[in-house]
Amino acid sequence: MPQPRNAIARPVVAIAGLGIESSTFSPARTEAPAFHPQRGADVLTRYPFLAPGAPLREAAEWRGALVGKALPGGTVTAAAFADLSDELIDRLRELGPVDGLWYDIHGAMTVEGVDDAETVLLARIRETVGPDVIVSTSMDLHGNVSRELAHQSDLITCYRMAPHEDHMETKERAVRNLVDVLVSGTPRPVKAWVPVPVLLAGEQTSTRIEPARSVYAAVDEVEAVDGVLDAAIWVGYAWADEPRNRAAVVVTGSDEAAVSAGAERLARGFWEARNRFAFVAPTASLDACLDDALASDARPYFISDTGDNPTAGGAGDVTWGLGRVLDRPEFKDPDGPTVIYASVPGPAAVEVAVKAGAGAVVTVTAGAEVDDRHAGPLTMTGVVHAVRHGDRDAGTEVVLRVGSVHVILTRLRKPYHHEHDFTDLDLDPRSADLVLVKIGYLEPELFDMAVGWKLALTPGGVDQDLPRLGHRRVRRPLFPFDPEMAAPDLTARIVPPSNEPLVGVDE
Ligand SMILES: [Zn+2]
Repeated sequence: MPQPRNAIARPVVAIAGLGIESSTFSPARTEAPAFHPQRGADVLTRYPFLAPGAPLREAAEWRGALVGKALPGGTVTAAAFADLSDELIDRLRELGPVDGLWYDIHGAMTVEGVDDAETVLLARIRETVGPDVIVSTSMDLHGNVSRELAHQSDLITCYRMAPHEDHMETKERAVRNLVDVLVSGTPRPVKAWVPVPVLLAGEQTSTRIEPARSVYAAVDEVEAVDGVLDAAIWVGYAWADEPRNRAAVVVTGSDEAAVSAGAERLARGFWEARNRFAFVAPTASLDACLDDALASDARPYFISDTGDNPTAGGAGDVTWGLGRVLDRPEFKDPDGPTVIYASVPGPAAVEVAVKAGAGAVVTVTAGAEVDDRHAGPLTMTGVVHAVRHGDRDAGTEVVLRVGSVHVILTRLRKPYHHEHDFTDLDLDPRSADLVLVKIGYLEPELFDMAVGWKLALTPGGVDQDLPRLGHRRVRRPLFPFDPEMAAPDLTARIVPPSNEPLVGVDE
């Protein structure tokens, strides 16, 4: 029987968490400063719904411990995870007793030598705050939910949209549900967890299109049922290799039958759609994409160089794609089709180009300092077309025209998501013939200007061709690694409350 708790008129709630999406398949490493940690009262400034005067701000007393969020990247070093975790725990201890804790994470943090890092950190948090504290965990839908994470959380939810237009709404819901549980004194929620043995790329599961649109539409219907408080589906993170990496469903509420039925419905919906998840644009090898682009009248024609997408966790300095482009005979002549390639970091090359200045002819070598598994550093001779200093991400950017290809080289890695990222460099993507960008699905401004578009399945830390990456530790069978696998057990597992032990194993 769930135990009733005392209602708390104005609960004290701590906020803590670390968030990153880190690829196991990238040789890049993420260090602590990349998380830009915020501490104490500064943590509250992250969230508009906790601004002074906002109803939720007034409903509880908020105490920030430490929240750090990093851009996607490579595996977090063991030392960075230990340092950040130690500081988070120290600060939490200094806050004194709390009634609730909001655990604000992404859920796809890969750490050297640590499995299920967010659960490891939550276990330390639990030891610090005690078993009676109610924890609400909010996540990205590309995070992973192990049975242990569901156990240690009392409430757990994630985004319902990809791209994540509802990210702040989701955090607010997680916080509101936490405050409601504390203020009402209702028993700890019942949690129904269902692992779904499917692991798909984000580019196949956009909720803007079917089948993910319908699969996620059912979340609202399940949540509307009496006895259900919250419902969530996680796609999971495809570019890490731990037993936890797969899709999952959790439904929480007061009624065991209702949360179980809801969780099973959502898990079935996801599983049954598995063969219909498709990429958001046609896919092909890079050579085939270039052939199609050259044969097409659609201008500009965009090609996503997907394997090294820096905003999904790629190192950003893979030269494989640029090398293939520069090898094409069609682009050797400066009067050939106008091509823009964004981008390859190469600090030494940028320095040479800056020193020579616009209009000079230079020979430079760039790329493959972090990820050289698919191609080595690339040497190219071209005319310096533009130089720009002071970019927040890149530092300095230069454009080198090699044949008819305008190659963007940067001091540090930078995503190219906006039209001004190009026009600031005296490039006009709208009048170009081909625009190649290290990206997955096109960000809105690029999507709007693209007349033709294909996703090139290129190698790198976030290769979209999952089975060729060589996952070894994910639980098998797993779709699409085992396409002919038997139907899995999708019955709801009731995970015990966080203050009762988790017994047995659940594969
Ligand atoms: Zn995500």
